[in-house]
Amino acid sequence: MDKKRRVVLFAAAASSVAAIAPVRAQQRLEEKDPQAVALGYVHDAKRVDRKKFPKFADGQVCSNCSLYQGKAGDAWGGCGIFAGKQVAGPGWCTAWAKKA
Ligand code: SF4
Repeated sequence: MDKKRRVVLFAAAASSVAAIAPVRAQQRLEEKDPQAVALGYVHDAKRVDRKKFPKFADGQVCSNCSLYQGKAGDAWGGCGIFAGKQVAGPGWCTAWAKKA
């Protein structure tokens, strides 16, 4: 087999593998995840423990945090803090930072 033919076959095989590889959706972050617990993450900002986290203010939610990677209306989206996981749009954690 000549080199050119091997290259073409390799490219075809590689694209086939890519086509059948399952698309992995990001997992949703669980509140009991140790990193989530450490940062006081909750799926719903209405449940933030205000005594424990006095810096929390009404209106602070993941979807308006500068670290949120989803779109404004998305129920779930990625987060710069919790790599590879999705956080709830209405959620909150102590790393919240106002979106510019
Ligand atoms: Fe939500 Fe922002 Fe905390 Fe990520 S860093 S969990 S987007 S508040």
